Amino acid sequence: MNLDFNQAPSPSYVVDERLLIKNLEILKSVQDRTGCKILLAQKAFSMFSLYPLIGKYLSGVASSSLYEARLGYEEMGKEVHVYSPAYSDTDFEQILNYADHVVFNSFSQWAHFREKVKQAPKKIECGIRVNPEYSEVETELYDPCAPFSRMGVTETNFNPDELNGIDGLHFHTLCEQNSDALEHTLQAVDRKFGKYLKKMKWINFGGGHHITRPDYDIERLIRCIGMMQDKYGLDVYIEPGEAVALNTGYLVSTVLDVTHNGMDLAILDTSATCHMPDVLEMPYRPEIIGAGKPGERTHTYRFGGPTCLAGDVIGDYSFDRPLHVGDRLVFCDMAIYSMVKNNTFNGIALPAIATFNETDGLRIVRQFSYDNFKVRLS
Ligand SMILES: *Cc1c(COP(=O)(O)O)cnc(C)c1O
Repeated sequence: MNLDFNQAPSPSYVVDERLLIKNLEILKSVQDRTGCKILLAQKAFSMFSLYPLIGKYLSGVASSSLYEARLGYEEMGKEVHVYSPAYSDTDFEQILNYADHVVFNSFSQWAHFREKVKQAPKKIECGIRVNPEYSEVETELYDPCAPFSRMGVTETNFNPDELNGIDGLHFHTLCEQNSDALEHTLQAVDRKFGKYLKKMKWINFGGGHHITRPDYDIERLIRCIGMMQDKYGLDVYIEPGEAVALNTGYLVSTVLDVTHNGMDLAILDTSATCHMPDVLEMPYRPEIIGAGKPGERTHTYRFGGPTCLAGDVIGDYSFDRPLHVGDRLVFCDMAIYSMVKNNTFNGIALPAIATFNETDGLRIVRQFSYDNFKVRLS
């Protein structure tokens, strides 16, 4: 059975489970070869209907909030790790019911909650997020080591007298990067925090490891993990989001109108700002199956969404033949940072969510309606 995008509702996110499994096998092989534990960072991909499948390969979830912690606990049922720049008292109380690891962003948060952790119904291991002040991320929006960053404790602010009850250190400084950037980061972490790692049980390398990308150097990742295991006897955790579902999903859309204003324009039933906000935030131009760069093929169009935001523009694409109303367009790599970030701005409907595998074919997991728009307003 083949994946036929014409069978999918429009707009809809479609995740191809065959591609997801390929990624999961790569990640599992890293776990098997090193003994490290790999967690799904739900921030990137929270498609919980696939958590039972993901849980067959990975060790659990990384969560950035109470709701993500609960979702991972209820839907995957494996290890639940939580990190947040700051916890509220009310959220923290509930997080204690779900978490196995809690990572604090500051020594003041640790001091505020340490007694609560001790009294928790289950044993929870605690960590501190450190900021090695070393990053190769060039987009400021995604650089946790930029000047005045609130993410993690710097070497100057690190308080070795407050480590009683702390089992691990956590860092997260990468974004869509290869293992050379990890290697350099580990050198900085080791230089600044190595003396504290001696007393720890584990280290968490955070996310941003693009492990399932074809040119990713897995052998170097394995050496990096081995370095921390051998030098300090640490358990190593990594929590990629993107890498889990990289290039496994699509956003299926339809041309609603074709117009002209100095160049050919097409309006789609999907929106950059509502359905793929990273296109505007990052920003980047998503690939479309069968389309070329502007000018590369005969007919070039600028694609825009159905919202009233002038800048709701997805990008410029060229085709061998003219586009018509009703044509299907399929955007690539739309599993990650899409469903988790979408919104109903302008009253635009949310895309349906579907999966494909060879046994069940195309399966619509969820469709949204007017109620999903209305329920968030009053
Ligand atoms: C965003 C984030 C991740 C996942 O990052 P990816 O770039 O999706 O791999 C993991 N851990 C933390 C703390 C994060 O903030």
